[in-house]
Amino acid sequence: MKIAIAGSGAMGSRFGLMLQKSGEDVLLIDGWQAHIEAILSNGLKANFNGEEVSVNIPIVHQEEVHLDKKYDLIILFTKAMQLDKMMTDIKGIIDENTQVLCLLNGIGHEDTIEKYVPLENIYLGNTMWTAGLEGPGVAKLFGNGSIELQNLGVGQEENAKKIAEVLSNAGLNASFSENIRLSIYNKACVNGTMNGLCTLLDVNMATLGNTRTALYMCRSIVNEFAAVAKFEGVALDIPAIMEKIKSCFDPLTIGLHFPSMHQDLMRNNRLTEIDFINGAISRKGRKYGIVTPYCDFLTELVHAKEDILKAE
Ligand code: NAD
Repeated sequence: MKIAIAGSGAMGSRFGLMLQKSGEDVLLIDGWQAHIEAILSNGLKANFNGEEVSVNIPIVHQEEVHLDKKYDLIILFTKAMQLDKMMTDIKGIIDENTQVLCLLNGIGHEDTIEKYVPLENIYLGNTMWTAGLEGPGVAKLFGNGSIELQNLGVGQEENAKKIAEVLSNAGLNASFSENIRLSIYNKACVNGTMNGLCTLLDVNMATLGNTRTALYMCRSIVNEFAAVAKFEGVALDIPAIMEKIKSCFDPLTIGLHFPSMHQDLMRNNRLTEIDFINGAISRKGRKYGIVTPYCDFLTELVHAKEDILKAE
């Protein structure tokens, strides 16, 4: 299968590497020049579950994609705020047979993708894989994960299952979901509590969990997600989500980790995906006439922190 990965940072590198290894014809597309040059010069280097690997994998700048080549599948892995520009840059390689799978974190990306791709070719997914970048062209790929995905278009279930099969053949452990929006909302609730709060307070999840107000703040945020989700036909199980959130506080499992937003902003001085997590709930809340004061304020505070730190 001809597969393009649009957004080839940490996660795109993982997927590109694993899919190419399984025999797929993979192209990485990215916008970070230093990363592209490193991969063109030295291949993609990765510590892959403890083994140092270096693979030759084609990569092209998103503004220089060859418009005459079409792809069977495009996997979107930009950061959320980079998605619209990526879609504009690559729209020429998308034709009526190109299926587009979105695996970004956050809510509502289909609104952006639908501007460029017919609904019947769009697939939404949610992944539990993780990945990191040590620098341009160098990835750190540890652990296991999974993917759930579903078609947005009516009658495209078989195609969704075929995409899951291709991903699973590469060891990516993908399955068809009957309700991908529920999975996306469930994950967004964890990100929508841990990411913003740990970033603003500059603490790991265990330290957040030890504060007097953590549970109340998390519950208030999750209530807003649930109120908005209900308007979208998604019924969130609030007690189950709160249990999941509490499990993140455990220092014996993942509590000592800093969420990705903390790493992006506090360590790497990069802009965050807050507009597509809590900010998406604020926008949808306004649309449905629901007040979302916790998500509004959290989004504003994170943007203020981005400004103070001059994040890019
Ligand atoms: P990433 O930041 O590694 O890459 C995204 C884009 O940013 C790429 O185009 C990359 O080249 C560019 N980039 C990365 N570092 C840069 C730098 N220092 N300067 C300039 N450009 C830079 O993002 P990711 O972690 O691959 O995440 C992609 C999507 O997947 C996001 O929506 C994220 O929330 C989601 N996600 C990530 C993980 C994870 O473990 N990393 C897990 C699940 C979902």
